[in-house]
Amino acid sequence: MLTTAPRGTRDILPEEAAKWQYVEEVIRDCCRLYGYGEIRPPLFEHTELFQRSVGEATDIVEKEMYTFIDRGGRSITLRPEATASTVRAYLEHNLHAGPQPVKLYYMGPMFRYDRPQAGRYRQFSQFGVEAIGAQDPSVDAEVITLVLDLCTRLGLKDLVVELNSIGCPKCRQEYRQALLEYLSEHKNKLCKTCLSRIERNPLRVLDCKEEGCRALTAAAPQMLEYLCSECAEHFKTLQQCLHAVGAKYELNPALVRGLDYYTKTVFEVTWSGLGAQTAICGGGRYDGLVQECGGPPTPGVGFAMGLDRLLIALEQMGISIPTVNKPTVYVAALTNADNKDAFALLTILRRAGIAADKDYRQASLRAQLKAANRSGAKWTVIVGGEEKKRGAVVIRDMETGEQTEVPQDQLVSILKSS
Ligand code: AMP
Repeated sequence: MLTTAPRGTRDILPEEAAKWQYVEEVIRDCCRLYGYGEIRPPLFEHTELFQRSVGEATDIVEKEMYTFIDRGGRSITLRPEATASTVRAYLEHNLHAGPQPVKLYYMGPMFRYDRPQAGRYRQFSQFGVEAIGAQDPSVDAEVITLVLDLCTRLGLKDLVVELNSIGCPKCRQEYRQALLEYLSEHKNKLCKTCLSRIERNPLRVLDCKEEGCRALTAAAPQMLEYLCSECAEHFKTLQQCLHAVGAKYELNPALVRGLDYYTKTVFEVTWSGLGAQTAICGGGRYDGLVQECGGPPTPGVGFAMGLDRLLIALEQMGISIPTVNKPTVYVAALTNADNKDAFALLTILRRAGIAADKDYRQASLRAQLKAANRSGAKWTVIVGGEEKKRGAVVIRDMETGEQTEVPQDQLVSILKSS
């Protein structure tokens, strides 16, 4: 037990972490281009925040939260998602008093007591954006376009944007009733889970993966037919904006998303190559959420993207990620007595901005050169011998094996210029 990470968690070792860093850099750059500033909310919040925002009748709140009572007697929950925290921060820091929308992005770990499998973990990372304080459908189009641009820059292909509108509380109420009536007539065909939730949340039946429920919902009434004129107009304009930038999407009337706070636009970005877990990214509009959290009526829209799945997709698509984990220079000591000078030179190189490393075993020169080779360094600098007495070192080109003596005080400029 002491030598294994808890179920559903894993270590990301340097080679893989370098890929994460690359993806994170591309994400940060996309956010910069789109005008989103980073927010770093805490990893845990008061439990009530998620109960109120994500919704009591959702899988997340019912079954998946890591909740505990802290030593001060408060109920605390490790964040299962970060939209709630972002909205809380928006209110706590009076961001509604400034220019709107407030455009924020976050990146970091989320925690859900999910059933672990490929692409599903109990600690996983999400990148998400939230544009709070604008009703305009071009903001919905903006966040979808941001995802698409990011995926294009990363080289991801064959992704599908699935789009739907689930209306506002007003028109959804009417639809909910129609759906409930339809489902009640066919109760015998529903799975056990759906049967237990149709009264509380009939819309969730639409995204049930069970064969029987899917067949049933294929013929169910569709939300798009029930949209009020305002929601229909919003959805139409969003689609026009997407057309205007050549963004491709598919309408999916069964897309409802598992969180209660969505209104109007909902979308998901999926890739079929991911097996059972096809969703890379999910999001939508949440016009009632700020108010639900105790603020003034404020619209908002955003998405969360699963970075673990994004990296799996990159890997499976065979997209190579530029990573730099290799030292440029390896410093070798000719004898053990030269070790201290080798260490001093290593530090000079690092302080001059050159990635450098050495062997720490007091090994023979042969063994050090072998290690240098394995490290992938471009050059090895050998310290010691007659050259040292002359204030010089030997540079060995690791590809050609060619060796040159250079004055030590010129080493940095020589390495930097070659
Ligand atoms: P959600 O917050 O449920 O809409 O999820 C947004 C995205 O986060 C999903 O599309 C997944 O890519 C990712 N995600 C959600 N839950 C998990 C999990 N347990 N493990 C890995 N990724 C997840």
